[in-house]
Amino acid sequence: MTGGKLIDRGPSRKGWHWHQTFMVCPRLWALHYLEPDKEKEPRKMSDPLVRGTLVHCGLAHVYKRIQLKAQGREADEYMRPYSAIRALAKKETAASGDPIWEDWSERCQSIITHYNVTWGDDTDWEILNVEDEIEVYIEDAGRKHLYTQRPDLVARRRSDGKVYIWDHKCVATLHRSGARRQLSGQFLGYRVLGQSIWGEEFGGVMLNLVSFDNKTGKVSTRREYVKAAPFGDQQFTRTIKWANRAIEMFKKTGLPAAEWPGAHTEYSCWRYNSPCEMAHICNYGPTL
Ligand code: SF4
Repeated sequence: MTGGKLIDRGPSRKGWHWHQTFMVCPRLWALHYLEPDKEKEPRKMSDPLVRGTLVHCGLAHVYKRIQLKAQGREADEYMRPYSAIRALAKKETAASGDPIWEDWSERCQSIITHYNVTWGDDTDWEILNVEDEIEVYIEDAGRKHLYTQRPDLVARRRSDGKVYIWDHKCVATLHRSGARRQLSGQFLGYRVLGQSIWGEEFGGVMLNLVSFDNKTGKVSTRREYVKAAPFGDQQFTRTIKWANRAIEMFKKTGLPAAEWPGAHTEYSCWRYNSPCEMAHICNYGPTL
């Protein structure tokens, strides 16, 4: 079965990544968002990135088809998970010329098989949204700042009637997962959005964890609720307001992006064992 639509939606319009980039480095934000064609080093593909992308794609199709069936609609409107993974791997290979996508395609299909064996009988969830963008406008002294995110899944748990935002995470190991995400803007943002859209019905954020052992091929899964951070949630909208105000302030200076303030820390200029994609500009200046 290769018919049906492929879910491949990309980032939301103005989400945490947009704001986080500014927090990491104002110059990086300006180079990305004000001069997007500027001399960006091509993003290097890594095993975790490719595996995560393909498994997300598979899970999106698992849950989209469950949602369609529950609504009495034709599940084949969207691809089956295995076909979707193959289609995305093919599309990314054609775009990048990097064989890493095809290398991971079959293993990611097996990960989905394992996931379905573990969770296929779990009927406690009514699927409300699969990778659809949600939004809120944050009031700021007469202005409104758009804030958006694209959750992997929004589902109502039948047993308690609450709505949960799910985040699929492909991880190296299942332990060490929830606590480190309690203060992550991605999850603070989900809670702010969830509370603003579903109010009292909002139950929280759930990590849908999938780990894959590269050496043994062992797949493990676990679900874990992200602990609430009441003060963090309360301050998050203020953080968004200040980020937007600061961006507006720098924009008004009219400075070219390469002259916006740079973070210049090893945490920002060197990430995930690679230099920042704009490091060549910061080292030697723009050439275009
Ligand atoms: S190299 Fe460092 S200073 Fe330059 S854009 Fe990247 S994070 Fe900012």
